[in-house]
Amino acid sequence: MGLFSSKPKIKVQTTKKDGFSGWLKCSHCSELIHANELKQNLHCCPKCSYHYRLSAPQRIELLADKGTFVELFGEYSSGDPLNFVDLEPYTERLKKAQEKTGRRDAVMVGECKLYNQDVALGVLDFSFMGGSMGSVVGEKLTLLIETAIAKRLPLVLVSASGGARMQESILSLMQMAKTSAALAKLGQAKLPYISVLTNPTTGGVTASFATLGDIIVAEPDALIGFAGPRVVEQTTREKLPPGAQRSEFLLEKGMIDCIVNRHHLKDKLSLILEFLTDDAHTGVGESEPLPDKLLEILEISREEKVPVSSTN
Ligand SMILES: [Zn+2]
Repeated sequence: MGLFSSKPKIKVQTTKKDGFSGWLKCSHCSELIHANELKQNLHCCPKCSYHYRLSAPQRIELLADKGTFVELFGEYSSGDPLNFVDLEPYTERLKKAQEKTGRRDAVMVGECKLYNQDVALGVLDFSFMGGSMGSVVGEKLTLLIETAIAKRLPLVLVSASGGARMQESILSLMQMAKTSAALAKLGQAKLPYISVLTNPTTGGVTASFATLGDIIVAEPDALIGFAGPRVVEQTTREKLPPGAQRSEFLLEKGMIDCIVNRHHLKDKLSLILEFLTDDAHTGVGESEPLPDKLLEILEISREEKVPVSSTN
């Protein structure tokens, strides 16, 4: 070797360490898609339009006018009052999730503008312990709702969650009652709440604030339910009908009000908010029939069984 012995023995990496070329296989349609293309398409498959999950910051970027989101209560962090240990201590799980996401818990809440309209916005982050609702998530959502009441702001919550956080046991379940009670006060204050359900929204989140919206919007093909399909089938000993617990099925059954493609989500929310915050329509939903204008926005025809998701 002589002359070249000083040459580094370790090969310089010319491609990315993991050999990632940027090409991905869509888990839904199996077509090859490029990561850049996916990103440009708001993380929807360019071939089959399958909606991939967004992190809370990505969702906020999608909905809030640029630079207007002011995060609130970001410093809140879970304790471990039960000293819970499953495969590993809860404190360890929390620490890992915090390191992975750079956030302290599974929800981001704040105020922002949505096409220039002031809104209280909360977004669950599935990448933080499956978007599970523990004391911090419940408390931050409740504080957000109270802020909305104090400042007379409409509320938009975007869910992506596996449900209540088992590591906090009963304390998690109590958040269902707490957030629901806060939403009742929002309703009494005649302020609208739009709930956006994304893939997946399940468990205690579905069973509380996520399905209490004055208007409930879902992304296409999102899994929405209480218990997972396997648990339901084991419990009822019946096979679920095809497509059960998906947005399209739930729309047909009147559980949600509309399905909106992510590309139109901000526009649609803006139209609904504009309608619901117009003084002339305060208290809409309390008396049927729903106004034509709202049906038009939700793309529901009068002939269809009109789903009224909430009367609060
Ligand atoms: Zn696809």
